[in-house]
Amino acid sequence: MMSREFDAGDFAEVTLPGIDEGEILVIRSARRKKNISAYRQGGRIVISIPARMSKADERAVVPEMIATIRRQEAEQTPDESELATRIDQLLTELAPEISERPISVTWRAMRERWGSCTTVDRTIRISDRLKLAPRYVQDYVLFHEAIHLRYGDHGEEFQSVLSRCEDGELASAYLDGYEAAERALLAPIELENL
Ligand SMILES: [Zn+2]
Repeated sequence: MMSREFDAGDFAEVTLPGIDEGEILVIRSARRKKNISAYRQGGRIVISIPARMSKADERAVVPEMIATIRRQEAEQTPDESELATRIDQLLTELAPEISERPISVTWRAMRERWGSCTTVDRTIRISDRLKLAPRYVQDYVLFHEAIHLRYGDHGEEFQSVLSRCEDGELASAYLDGYEAAERALLAPIELENL
């Protein structure tokens, strides 16, 4: 039997063919003997496998883990028609004077913003970072963008309508915390020296 060599530290980053680079990170951990773990870290999925796992096993197991995580996430994520329905409910309940409705509400990969609204064509985009956020946070961002259908800036009128969002302060704190955590998490992973 051929002996196998491992990198110093027994860690190596591998990107599998056919999977978006940058989104999946496979870490080989010398300390991990059997277990495989997969979790979402910021915008990427991190999969930790034992250092000694064969390439063949890795190729079999990693796509399964990715599929499982994505399936779980998809189940918890409202689809775009649900987002539009939610906006309609929020406006009806909280801001009946705003009769405008968006033509489309879409998830969008946005790292710098939580949402955006284009008034001319009445389209709203919500950052896909919110796909797994609590409902009250999604509502807060949806409501914020929906108010822009009527008010283009963040002036007094805008703020007065936005303040009707019950959990607004909590949601705002959640978003601030998320951004702070993201800045920390997206920093390069420090690989330990063993
Ligand atoms: Zn805004």
